[in-house]
Amino acid sequence: MKFQDYYEILGVARDASEDDIKKAYRKLAMKWHPDRHQDDDRAAAEEKFKRINEAKEVLTDPEKRAKYDKFGQNWEHGQDFRPPEGGAWQTMNPEEFDSMFGGGGGFSDFFASMFGDDMRAKARGARAHRRYQARGADVNAELRLTVSDAIDGGKREFGLGTVQACPTCGGTGELDQHVCYTCAGMGRVRGRKTVELKIPKEVRDGLVLRLKSLGEPGVGGGETGDLYLTIRLQGDANYRREGADIYADVPVAPWEALEGAKVDLRTLDGTVTLNVPPGTRSGQHLRMKGLGLSHEQGGRGDLFAVIRLALPEELSDEQKELIKQLKQAGATEVKGGARRQA
Ligand SMILES: [Zn+2]
Repeated sequence: MKFQDYYEILGVARDASEDDIKKAYRKLAMKWHPDRHQDDDRAAAEEKFKRINEAKEVLTDPEKRAKYDKFGQNWEHGQDFRPPEGGAWQTMNPEEFDSMFGGGGGFSDFFASMFGDDMRAKARGARAHRRYQARGADVNAELRLTVSDAIDGGKREFGLGTVQACPTCGGTGELDQHVCYTCAGMGRVRGRKTVELKIPKEVRDGLVLRLKSLGEPGVGGGETGDLYLTIRLQGDANYRREGADIYADVPVAPWEALEGAKVDLRTLDGTVTLNVPPGTRSGQHLRMKGLGLSHEQGGRGDLFAVIRLALPEELSDEQKELIKQLKQAGATEVKGGARRQA
């Protein structure tokens, strides 16, 4: 590997003050910032920029600078450099160093060999610190609603399995310097809580709602995670589901079927008027395009209105009389199905 003369790279004297070093660094960093260079010399500028940053990293850190000065005084920039055996020189394989710091070759092999172990210890420390102050995990859950629930809207309560900070020890896992008996030192306990959800208007199958702070608790004062709730719509007695299509029974009176009628339907898209053409038969499917559930790959299925002939629950005497007249007028014979013909 090549010896890097950090003083020469920054153009400062060996006894330069930290202020002088920072000043020199700022000037050079501005000059060689890759964004200020075009296609052809951009790569060269990048390389130079990296070395300038590396030099600053070493020379503005008193510990690194002292270590560097101790071993660097007898070497010249670019000279082939072999680290001395043993002693304070901590070697670290440059590949290992690179993979630790995300690769990309930000630092020279020389730097990796000389400071790899220091950087590794620092990274470990930072990780340990982070673990102590972690944000809680996000939680994924599914909520099953029927199509009728979705159409009705309103609020819905559901139970949610949770991980919570242990109430006995407050999440520390310790109680008077002993392991907490409630959570066995884990600092968290499993529980259940009831969550109230306001069903959104534009609810559809597969919709993911983010409910803030309903995930796992953070550690050491870290933020609570979020709950990602996936809505799954299921069919029910009134709205049967087949894939993305919905089949809904629509009762119509015989005279509506005979003469045609406009019937208001409750759908996921609000009230929609169905046009029942004259002479519609019971069991006939009337398709309402695009009023079904969402397809996974986009677009929407259809709503099929399944016509059911029905009589009003109570007929007036006048209606009963009219039906009798219909029969006496010699109504056409009704045939088919399991019906035995006379
Ligand atoms: Zn506890």
